[in-house]
Amino acid sequence: MKTNCNVIKDLMPLYTEGMLSPESVALIDEHMKECPSCAEELKEQKDAKERINTKETKYVNDAAPLKRVKKKIGKRTALIIAGSIAGTLVLLAAAFILWPTSIDLGSSDVHTQEDMELAAAAVKADAESMRLYKLISLNYAGDEKSRIELDYINKYLNNGKEPYIDCIAFDSVFIPPLGLGGAWDPHIYYWSWIVVKTQDGQWIVREKGF
Ligand SMILES: [Zn+2]
Repeated sequence: MKTNCNVIKDLMPLYTEGMLSPESVALIDEHMKECPSCAEELKEQKDAKERINTKETKYVNDAAPLKRVKKKIGKRTALIIAGSIAGTLVLLAAAFILWPTSIDLGSSDVHTQEDMELAAAAVKADAESMRLYKLISLNYAGDEKSRIELDYINKYLNNGKEPYIDCIAFDSVFIPPLGLGGAWDPHIYYWSWIVVKTQDGQWIVREKGF
């Protein structure tokens, strides 16, 4: 059966796409054997399709490096975020350590300003030796509390050694270290510090705690 060349050409795109029924495919294959012109046309169409397929594959391959760049950017973003968090923690820790202790020496009828300052300095030095613990505030606890503490220590805690000649009591707010239940732990310690003056005039921390 001699099929019209125009009909065959109309069917060629469907043929190259593999969308024809087996009967139509057989019809076209048969026509190709006896029609060099259509055979040539079909070959061109097949080649063109081949080139398009190759190009598509290439585009897919070209997209791969782009994905790698995306991945790299993702990693970099994660690093920047991690860095920011670490930086914030370092700043928090620095603020925690460097934050000045608020000191209120109040007023006293029995202690000189110099003694008050020496006693407060003894507390600060002692607090600083406790590493990351932070003394937030230090307040003079008053003449009466200081006198009672001096009597009590000399009577009951000094075991017959030379009595201390003076005593200054402080109240304080004290917090535990960052990262060890500190920054995120609402726990605040209200400590007392009892500083005594020895016979040779030294101010030393005698008692501290709740
Ligand atoms: Zn033909």
